[in-house]
Amino acid sequence: MLESSLDKFEKIKYNIKKIQENIYNAAIRSGRNPEDIKLLAATKTVEPAIINYAAENGIKIIGENKAQELLEKYDSIDKTKCEIHFIGHLQTNKVKQIINKVSLIHSVTSVKLANEISKQAKKAQKQMDILLEVNIANEESKDGFTKEEIKEKALQISRLDNINIKGLMIIPPKSNFKGQNNKYFNEAYKLAFDIIDKKVYHDSNCCLSMGMSNDYLDAIACGADIIRIGCGIFGARKYV
Ligand SMILES: *Cc1c(COP(=O)(O)O)cnc(C)c1O
Repeated sequence: MLESSLDKFEKIKYNIKKIQENIYNAAIRSGRNPEDIKLLAATKTVEPAIINYAAENGIKIIGENKAQELLEKYDSIDKTKCEIHFIGHLQTNKVKQIINKVSLIHSVTSVKLANEISKQAKKAQKQMDILLEVNIANEESKDGFTKEEIKEKALQISRLDNINIKGLMIIPPKSNFKGQNNKYFNEAYKLAFDIIDKKVYHDSNCCLSMGMSNDYLDAIACGADIIRIGCGIFGARKYV
């Protein structure tokens, strides 16, 4: 079947299948177990009917960017088929709204935010799994811990009662050609495994969330555990 003749839903199904194949092959090429690499569908601006269709066709994790958008969609998302992660900028005063709705927060960018997550998790009588976001390319437009401070901040945050640090997340600059972000992926790997004390991780292992539509194959080769794909699955986003 010609790719261009597929309708919107068929196209999404095709994209998921193709990406899963690509993940499998990239893992094998790197001597990794394909099952260790998780595909997260980044679903900002994607409506619940489409999210649920993706979940029926192999997507087991979705990632939302905004508390408000997550709340609006939450009841319509079929939670029996997929778990929800939070991947966007999180304001301290929104933590309360999402604490019981997500299983992993990728985007913890300050000790203050971590404190609030721990506080709200305690109220909700749960442990919240988080990743610490590192501003790996030192971009002014991006949040995240600096490479210089992450070691100390990770240790500080790991002492909070109701938080489990599962690993690190990075968002490097948009990549336009193969290998462009490898230096950042390698740096993140090094930070995660050589620089940060293993004790700060809940599982004494580190989960690395890195790689998007344009560079996920490179990210896998560099050690990514969760890749986050938006337009590669759903097509280009239209922002209103
Ligand atoms: C949108 C988004 C992605 C996916 O980006 P694509 O280029 O559409 O694959 C991944 N991570 C975060 C944090 C995002 O906001």
